[in-house]
Amino acid sequence: MNMVKRIAVFGSTGSIGKQALEVIHNNPDKFSVEILTANNNDQLLIEQALEYNPNIVVIADENKYPNVKDALSKTDIKVFAGEDALEEVAALDCYDVMLAAIVGFAGLKPTLKAIESKKAIALANKETLVVAGDIVMDMAVENRVPIIPVDSEHSAIFQCLVGETRNRIEKIYLTASGGPFIGRKTNYLVNVKREHALQHPNWEMGAKISVDSATLMNKGLEMIEAKWLFNLQPQQIEVVVHPQSAIHSMVQFEDGSIKAQMGLPDMKLPIQYALGFPSRIKNDFPRFNFKNYSTLTFEDPDLKTFRNLGLAMEALEKGGNLPCIMNAANEIVVYAFLKNRLGFLEMTDVIEKVMADIPFISNPTLNDCFESDGEARTLAADLIQL
Ligand code: NDP
Repeated sequence: MNMVKRIAVFGSTGSIGKQALEVIHNNPDKFSVEILTANNNDQLLIEQALEYNPNIVVIADENKYPNVKDALSKTDIKVFAGEDALEEVAALDCYDVMLAAIVGFAGLKPTLKAIESKKAIALANKETLVVAGDIVMDMAVENRVPIIPVDSEHSAIFQCLVGETRNRIEKIYLTASGGPFIGRKTNYLVNVKREHALQHPNWEMGAKISVDSATLMNKGLEMIEAKWLFNLQPQQIEVVVHPQSAIHSMVQFEDGSIKAQMGLPDMKLPIQYALGFPSRIKNDFPRFNFKNYSTLTFEDPDLKTFRNLGLAMEALEKGGNLPCIMNAANEIVVYAFLKNRLGFLEMTDVIEKVMADIPFISNPTLNDCFESDGEARTLAADLIQL
C-alpha cells in the first residue's frame, strides 16, 4: 500500500522550504502539504497556500495576519499568527513529518513540540541541536521519534550508516567547501561586505547560513549537530576542506574502511531522502559525472584565519550551555553584519567575548538554554550597540 505522508513545512518560504515544496510537488503520490509557516513573507506564503492547499498556514509576524487571512478567505485553509501558534500547530494531529526548516533559535520550540507529539522530524534547522542537542535527542528517544538530517553532510553520514547499526564509528569526516573566501587571509576579509559573503560557490542558501558558510561558523555548528545526531565524541569529528563538494561527508569504521556519500551539490536530494526515508525516490535530477571531476582535493581548514570554527570547536569540546551561547551571539552578529552594522572579522570578536562572559553551566536544563540564549543576545547586541 502506498501511504501519502502528510508534511508540515516549517519555514516554507525559505531556501530549504521552497525546495522541499518542489520535491513534494514532484511526488504527489507520496507527499501532501498539511502545514506551511513563514515569519513575515506573507506574499509568498499566500502563493504557496493557494498552490498547495494545506490544512493550515501560520505567519509568525502577527502584523501580517490580516493580509494572509483576507487572501485565503475564499479557501478552507485555517490561518494562525504569532510565535505561539507555531508551537500549537506543531502539536496537531493533522500531519506525519515535520520538515524543520525555520532558521535559527526560532526553530527550537516548534521542533520540541513536534517531537513531544511523536512526529518524525526531517531536520534542516541545525541550531536546534546546537542549542539543546542533549535535550532534543533524549526527547526523541523517549518518544521514539526519528530525527532524519537534511543538512547535506549529515544526510551523507546518515546514508553511510544505513545497515551499520552494530558497527562502531571510528570517526567521521565532515567535508567543507571552504566557502566563498577559501584561501583568503585576514587582510582581505577585513573589507568583506554583505554582497561578497552572500555569494557561495556551490550552494544557494538563505542569508544566515550563507554568512555562516563564509565565516566557517556553519561547519562548527555542523560539528556540534553531528555530535548529537550520531552520538560522537568531539575527537571523532574531523573537518576536511573539499572545495569541489563532490563528497558530502564520510564515515570511517573500526576496520579503517571509509564510506563516502557523493553527488552533485543539490539540497533537493537530501531533502527528498529525509522525506522519503527509508525509501529512495526515483528522480530525474542531473547525474554526477566523474569525468568532470579529474581532481578531488582535501585540506585542513585554516583555523587561524577563520577563527569562528575554532570557537565552535571550543564550544563542542566544553559542551554545557556554551554552544547555545555561541549560537545566540552568532545569530546577533550575523544579523548585524547583514545590516552593514558590523565588519566581517568583528563578528568573531563579539562571539568570543560573549562566550567568555556569559556564565558557564555544565548541565543546562531547557530553561537554562532559553536564559543563556537571551543573556547572550543582550550582551552581543550591547557590544555592537545595536
Ligand atoms: P532562509 O532564511 O532561506 O529561510 C528561513 C525560513 O524560516 C523562512 O521561511 C522564514 O520566514 C522562517 N523564519 C525566519 N525567522 C523566523 C522566526 N523568527 N519565526 C518563524 N519563522 C522564521 O533559511 P534556509 O532555508 O537557508 O535555512 C533554514 C535552516 O536550514 C537553517 O537552520 C539552515 O542552517 C538549515 N540549512 C539550510 C541549507 C540551505 O541550503 N539553505 C542547507 C543545510 C541546512 P520568512 O521567509 O517569512 O522570513
